Amino acid sequence: MNAPLVLHHFFDRAVALYGDKTAMICSGRTVTYRELGERVSRLANGLRGLGVRKGDRVAYLAPNTLEMLEGFYGVFEVGGVMVPLNTRLKPDDYVFILNHSETKVLFVDQELYGLIAPVKNKLETVEEIIVHHKTEAAIDETAYEEWLAAQSSAPVPRPMIDENDICSLLYTSGTTGNPKGVMLTHRNNYLHALVTMHHLRVSDRDTYLHVLPMFHVNGWGAPFYYTANGATQIGLRKVDPKVIFDLVKEHQVTVMHMAPTVLNMLLQYYEQYQPDVPEGVRVVIAGSAPPPAFVARVEEKLGWEFIQVYGMTESSPLSTISLIRPQLDGLPAEQKQRLKAKAGYPMIGCEVKVVDENGEEVPKNGRAIGEVIVRSHGVMKGYWKNEEATAATIRDGWLYTGDMATVDEYGHIDIVDRKKDIIISGGENISSIEVEGALYEHPAVLEAAVIAVPHEKWGETPHAFVVVRPGHTVSEEELIAFSREKLAHFKAITGVTFVDELPKTASGKIQKVHLRRQYWDAIGKSGRYVN
Ligand code: ATP
Ligand code: MG
Repeated sequence: MNAPLVLHHFFDRAVALYGDKTAMICSGRTVTYRELGERVSRLANGLRGLGVRKGDRVAYLAPNTLEMLEGFYGVFEVGGVMVPLNTRLKPDDYVFILNHSETKVLFVDQELYGLIAPVKNKLETVEEIIVHHKTEAAIDETAYEEWLAAQSSAPVPRPMIDENDICSLLYTSGTTGNPKGVMLTHRNNYLHALVTMHHLRVSDRDTYLHVLPMFHVNGWGAPFYYTANGATQIGLRKVDPKVIFDLVKEHQVTVMHMAPTVLNMLLQYYEQYQPDVPEGVRVVIAGSAPPPAFVARVEEKLGWEFIQVYGMTESSPLSTISLIRPQLDGLPAEQKQRLKAKAGYPMIGCEVKVVDENGEEVPKNGRAIGEVIVRSHGVMKGYWKNEEATAATIRDGWLYTGDMATVDEYGHIDIVDRKKDIIISGGENISSIEVEGALYEHPAVLEAAVIAVPHEKWGETPHAFVVVRPGHTVSEEELIAFSREKLAHFKAITGVTFVDELPKTASGKIQKVHLRRQYWDAIGKSGRYVN
């Protein structure tokens, strides 16, 4: 009989084999795998004491801390379902998610408690709030360390867990609208972790800095596969370029994952302050397709290898990965960058197709655009309490991603845009990402986001929201002319709105839905995909 693929096996193995090795360093505190094992047992006993049983939801609102990492395994020990909360939401969003998920126990980082305090009385199912460290503001809540110390460190009796039981309920980023609760099973996360650790060559020699939030589809599974391999993990409370460069140096970090916007911040900081950049870092990135010029800057200036992955919460999340070093040996630099600017080739165990509206695969010529559909071990069980959305998203066993892409003759997927973000002008599909890529080549452009706006003749036309780099100036006319130089004329922008900053999700993705709303509100009309 097969052993069920359950995540606590990863943890048992790490504690047994790497007991004396440093598991995590966070805010000046160092914990070995043995100590982590003991803390997780105490947490599990504490959760049992609070009545948490198999299938019950336990939510975490915390940055990338030790408490967050151990939370996953403590919750799994008792068969609970982890609900990690995005730290950048508004209090009422937490009310929605906690009530919708029917969460029983909520753990909160002391610095984030202020987001929960004002809405505490609106929480319908939360029976206990535990604050990670005692503060004045949270004086009425249970304080975690004291509570943990009072629990037994004996292993808890584990309930029978099936690999198809849900272990995490993750709300999507909300880039395109309201977040949806994605149900992922032990099997989803387990196989995703095995495949990803293989592709990223994760080993016990790695030191991983948690830049990507653990709440965001669990930082692409990082708490699972770095733990499974006995790697050392470094916590990070806040994304700050100086802190990141310092931690990389201090702990000889070998690997980080982050959104392109964060990598862009690191590049900016590097260009301005020239910090010491240690060698030996591998960096992985996803979230949007970066222009090849960006890939080149990262590799030349920082000397870190850029790897692109493509995924979404609904697929655990990763489905494709760009080529990495040995596979690229011998290729000319320009071709390497072009390949890395693509989302890449399907990962082991993932079937990825690009299909037209009739479900037929588009020609593999790198030009024909279709929707990406995925069939893999990572595809979610469904959306929590939303059968309609589940049925619309998973059809005949395939996950319809809502992302548009091309595929080349070798099977490399290149994400063109989200279905909702594509601009349809005079019947032509224009990728907002391609137009943004052209704008990024202008020295005065710090950030750019392009949306479709109405056009009398063409139906829609590209319009840019631009944040100007400090110390530079540029006019709307100059940027329009620049985009006409760089792109086919029908793809060029026809207008610019200058802004101080762009609305972003917690993982740094630009929320074009808000830009569309802002634009349409300003012209007093309503248009497509505004909500
Ligand atoms: P919501 O579904 O709530 O609107 P979201 O789709 O941003 O939010 P996530 O699941 O975090 O939530 O993000 C997945 C999406 O991110 C993908 O569907 C895709 O649009 C985008 N994405 C991920 N990787 C890449 C990539 N390598 N290139 C381009 N886009 C990517
Ligand atoms: Mg999505």
